[in-house]
Amino acid sequence: MIPLSIPNLGGKEWQYIKECLDTNWVSSVGSYVSRFEEKMAAYTGTSFAVSAVNGTAALHLSLIVAGVNSGDAVIVPNITFIASSNAVIYTGAEPIFVDVDAATWQMNIDLLASWLAANTYQYQNECRLKSNARRLRAVMPVHVLGNMCEMDKLMDLAQQYNFVVVEDASESLGSYYKGVHSGGIGHIGVFSFNGNKIMTTGGGGMIVTNNETWAKQAKFLSTQAKTDPLEYFHEEIGYNYRLVNVLAAMGVAQLEQMPSFLQKKANIATTYTKAFAQLSDVVPQHIPAAVQSNNWLYTLNLPSSRGLLQYLQNQKIQSRPLWTPMNQLPMFTQHTYVHEPTQNVSKQLHERCLSIPCSTNLSPEQQQQVIDAVQAFYTNSIHYNANAS
Ligand SMILES: *Cc1c(COP(=O)(O)O)cnc(C)c1O
Repeated sequence: MIPLSIPNLGGKEWQYIKECLDTNWVSSVGSYVSRFEEKMAAYTGTSFAVSAVNGTAALHLSLIVAGVNSGDAVIVPNITFIASSNAVIYTGAEPIFVDVDAATWQMNIDLLASWLAANTYQYQNECRLKSNARRLRAVMPVHVLGNMCEMDKLMDLAQQYNFVVVEDASESLGSYYKGVHSGGIGHIGVFSFNGNKIMTTGGGGMIVTNNETWAKQAKFLSTQAKTDPLEYFHEEIGYNYRLVNVLAAMGVAQLEQMPSFLQKKANIATTYTKAFAQLSDVVPQHIPAAVQSNNWLYTLNLPSSRGLLQYLQNQKIQSRPLWTPMNQLPMFTQHTYVHEPTQNVSKQLHERCLSIPCSTNLSPEQQQQVIDAVQAFYTNSIHYNANAS
């Protein structure tokens, strides 16, 4: 089986983790946690980084420190991994889903702008919804597959309407918007180091921000909100969301390899895009000029995606559709879904988009196998009938 996106442990992972084991610093205390945080802040060009047990926990903490309270509303793109919406729900806030752009697959900021203009009002420097007077405290752009939405426009809206921007940058480590690293453009940002991400700690997450108060609060809440370590005095409800030292050690080793990971992802993307340029109606994600993408998961918008998925499966090649749109999940069917009256881009993308193997350790031979299989599917009428789809 050629897998979709798997870890590449070609650096000093063994050495750093062995050091943790040899010195007995395996748990929540140890120097690798702060080293990983410092290196992540430096890498992303932000002032502070706070590690967490996974990206979902990091998102939850970010929303809390950004002031999202129970009863608030938070805007999330309709195409995202469930973690973005779940984190909003954990705070007691209500997620509102906004459709995405047909070419970039990111939150449609023009659509958001017109919806804000028609559906909100300002009350004591807060943005409130006309429908139920809920406060819109935050908008969470998700940098889907390493690409980014129009962040300039979004930051202007944030200022105009008084909301904060919490970037779900889980998939976009190594991506830049106009030269600024993802996660460091909004007020606070989150990365994930899950096994399929561009770099991994097995499981892990990181919050980045330039807001010192928020960073300190996030660290505090992630460590059970302990105010007196000797007497075990806690003055509020906290969480056990820490990343342990062994995993932070792995993170340091992975981060050292980011330049080569980015290079490999870029090479894979270029090769695929060139190979599929001749196939009609098969289009990769559009990366705007303002964005430098990390090319995390190579994905195509194509006809008969489920037929291709099955065909690839038979050839022992793993592929995966985009996530089911949030508004189609049973928990969220009653939530507001903002879209153009006659359009449902999310639904269309979910039906048509397929990610194909692009691990940083994918060999040229494996990539050629994938290319041959995709080309064979579309040129062989036994498998694919363009008129029928
Ligand atoms: C991976 C991911 C997360 C976080 O996932 P964890 O497994 O909790 O680290 C959040 N949002 C998106 C869009 C993701 O892809």
